[in-house]
This record gives sequence, C-alpha cells and structure tokens, in this order.
Amino acid sequence: MNVHNNVRPNMARLWSMLMRSAEIGATPGGGLNRLALSDDDATMRRQFIDWCVEAGCRIQIDGVGNIFATRAGRDPCAKPVLVGSHLDTQVHGGRFDGILGVLAGLELVHTLNEFAITTKHPITVVNWTNEEGARFEPPMMGSAIFTGHRTPDYAWARTDRHGVTLGEELDRLGFKGTDTLTPDLFDSLFELHIEQGPRLDAEKVPVGVVTGAFTVHGHVIQIRGETGHAGPTPMPSRRNALVAASLVMLAVDEIGWQFHGEEGKSTTTRLKAEPNLLGAIPKFVELNCDMRHPTAAGADAMISAFRKRLPELEERSRCSIEVTESWTYGGVELDKTCTDLVRSAAARLGYATKDLLTEAGHDALHTASVLPATIIFTPCEGGVSHNEKENVTIADIEPGMNVLLQAVLARAKLAE
Ligand SMILES: [Zn+2]
Repeated sequence: MNVHNNVRPNMARLWSMLMRSAEIGATPGGGLNRLALSDDDATMRRQFIDWCVEAGCRIQIDGVGNIFATRAGRDPCAKPVLVGSHLDTQVHGGRFDGILGVLAGLELVHTLNEFAITTKHPITVVNWTNEEGARFEPPMMGSAIFTGHRTPDYAWARTDRHGVTLGEELDRLGFKGTDTLTPDLFDSLFELHIEQGPRLDAEKVPVGVVTGAFTVHGHVIQIRGETGHAGPTPMPSRRNALVAASLVMLAVDEIGWQFHGEEGKSTTTRLKAEPNLLGAIPKFVELNCDMRHPTAAGADAMISAFRKRLPELEERSRCSIEVTESWTYGGVELDKTCTDLVRSAAARLGYATKDLLTEAGHDALHTASVLPATIIFTPCEGGVSHNEKENVTIADIEPGMNVLLQAVLARAKLAE
C-alpha cells in the first residue's frame, strides 16, 4: 500500500508548462509546427532543460540529442525509472501529442519536490529526439538508437527534404551530447500520452491502460509505366503509372474495409510521381502505405490479401507494380508488472480504466524490447490528433497524471 495516496500533482502548473510549449512553433490554426531539430524544437528543448535544472535535475544528453533529466534517489545502486515522451511535432501537429508525456514527467518531479518525497530509485524525465519522423524518417528514432535498434551513424546520416542531415542539425543546435546512456542503466519506462483515437473520449473512460500494440506493416510500392505525350498517345498504348497507383490506393483502402470488423486499418500515406508534369503521361510512381491489425496473424492476412490483388492490377493498368521495401513494428506486449501498477493506482484513485492496444507508434514500444515499459492513455477530444485541432482539457488529463504519479511512485519506491 502506497502511503502517499494523498499526493497530488499541481495541474495548473502542468497546464502553464503545456501552454508555454504551445507558444513555441505555434501555427495560426492553433496547433504546433515544431519539427525535430528545428530552431523551435531547440527553443523548446532549452526551455525544458531550464525547467528541469530549476527543479534540481541533472541533465545528460546522448549522441542523438535524447535529453535525460534525473532527480536523484536515495539508493545509489537503484536504477532510475524513466518517464517521458517527445517534444517534437508534425507539420500541422497538435499541442499535446508527446509533449504531455514529457511535461507530466517534469510535473511529477515538481510534485515530489513540493511534498519532500525521496524515492529509492532516481526518476529520469526523458525527451526522445525525432519521435514524429515528420522531418527525418523514420519516426521513433531517438528511442531506436537508445535501444540499439539503430546505430547513431544511421541517425546522423538521415536527411530532411532539403538534404540537411540530422547530425548537422544536432551540431548546429548544440544537442549532440557526449553522454552514453544505455537501457541497462535504467529500471523501467512510463509514458503518458493522449490516446490519439476516439475510444476513451467516446466511452467517457478517464484512463487507458495500454497493454500492447497493433502490428504495423509498412510498404514502399514502386510502379513503372511509360511516359508519353498526354495528347496524341493512343489510349490503348498507354501505360500510365498514376492509373496503376489509383488502383493500388483503392485496393489498399478496400483491404482496410475488408478487415474493419476486426479493427484492421489501412492507409496510403504518400505518393511521388514522375515526371509529374502537365502534358506528360506519368511513367513512375512511388507509394507508401501501411496496414495495421490488433494481431500479428491478422496483419499478415491483410498483407497477403493485398499482395494477391497485385497481378490483376498490373494486368489492368499494364504497369509493373512492385513492393520494394517493407518493415514492421509494434506487435509487442507491454510489461505486465508496470501495467498492473497503472491499474492498481487507478483503482486506488477511483478511476475507471479500459485496456487498449495502441494503434500508433510510440517510443515506449521500442523501449519495451529492452526494459519493462508501459503507456498510459488520456482521452483527447474526439480522438483528433496529428491535427492543429488536437485538444484536451485539464479534466481530461488529470486522472492520467495522477495515475502516472502513483504508478511511478510505486515503482520507484519510497526511500526507507
Ligand atoms: Zn506522440
């Protein structure tokens, strides 16, 4: 039994930090455009570090700019409990995606300071670099380096659309740190995040206990036809790659509907066409698509249903359609001990919970392969996210913040 059940965060303080963050990279539509390692991201990082230092934390930064702010514990042998998420956003992003998880970690530190609570384990608030992948692909990069899924060299060499590398931006902004931080130095990870989907908001459940993740398969599809004059080329001799692409996009969407009953989802996210000129028949298209399903077997079934359709689409469009690259993530189960701590904290506090799988990627999913990790969801208005209209109220996030605080306290244990 945790004797600190009466410890409560200061929601006004958390909200004021969230609103300060909402000014840095603000868009006219009320959202945020704070791409990873942009000037605005650097301003936010410096603000975060200043706040952490004021709260008495020790700052460490690793080679890809992940920021670790540690509040000391009593036991020098006890490993820190990580609490955090990301401060970067999409181009038309919201004010809470990721940011809530980082600043909730900092509010947790403030609360412990205020109540003069010493924990056995240190608590480390973490900001992962480039979670969104909106500027440098792929997403969830900082946590992928931390967990060893990717190497720092790989991350440093990633380029944005102007050819600027992530490594150059880390150097320019002063965020290529020299601290070496590896998973074996830490105890566990807790990530508070808005749901980014409508389930909690619709059912008026204040706390989502995330038990695992959808399996996600990403594909790059290349389509080759032949260019020619958009006027005189006779219809029967055309091989228009955009026509093939439209058939593929429809097929991707139809697979999503086919598996809709079991919560399957499918999306074509991006299209590049060549020569992409007025007056020319497109000769080449590259598409990105992803398919998601609650189970690995279901995700596989979606992929094979999709691939089965390709020969028919090739024949119809007279173009070649090839899957040139594919990757997968998710499909992980989050740590039962940590999710139990979340559930029992919610029960003590009198909050209803709902077990959920996350359909979006999160840093905690990488981390879950090397550390006990879990995610707590708060409701968000209408489930709208990756959108300037993304919104929560204090009442939406207060239960999640309280549960995070109690679950982390239970994990980090009170000092004897
Ligand atoms: Zn996020």
